[in-house]
Amino acid sequence: MERRIGVYVCHCGANIAATIDVEQVAEFARGLDGVVVAREYKFVCSDPGQELIKNDIKEQNLDRVVIASCSPRLHELTFRRTMASAGLNPYLMEMANIREQVAWVTEDRELATLKAKALVNAAVKKVSYYQPLETKEVPVNPNTLVVGAGIAGIQAAIEIANSGNLVYLVEREPSIGGHMAQLDKTFPTLDCSA
Ligand code: SF4
Repeated sequence: MERRIGVYVCHCGANIAATIDVEQVAEFARGLDGVVVAREYKFVCSDPGQELIKNDIKEQNLDRVVIASCSPRLHELTFRRTMASAGLNPYLMEMANIREQVAWVTEDRELATLKAKALVNAAVKKVSYYQPLETKEVPVNPNTLVVGAGIAGIQAAIEIANSGNLVYLVEREPSIGGHMAQLDKTFPTLDCSA
């Protein structure tokens, strides 16, 4: 399986670079199967950082990318867009979270660097098996079934119905209201709970 993978190790300013030896991680990545370029860069999500990746994709003919940086929750979409704008399938990218999962939770620089290498190694292996994916839209039935007509179920049903969707609210007891209906008054307003 011949791959042409690019690896980008982010400093995130001092967020990562103060705890992890990013140069060492990039050097380690250069020795991994399928990796044709590995760089460290101050802020990979910045415009120049993304340009670096795009240029490499074109000039080095990369077919996959690994970004060792922050949580995918933060920048997975950003980097998928970077991939797409360079003409690659956006799903041929993997992130190694060396910020939240290493730098922010580890004080020992040597151990942190070791763990960062392990995460990068795993991400490179993983991405090499990825297949291009296509997004597609499928119709869904927006009707909603709410099970349980206690106070939460009733409120959820009202919210959904008010947004213009059909709701089926079911309750196993003969009456609705759940525990709330068994109370007389509610604190602190002393409203009648029924
Ligand atoms: S990609 Fe993530 S880790 Fe890197 S600079 Fe941006 S926010 Fe920080």
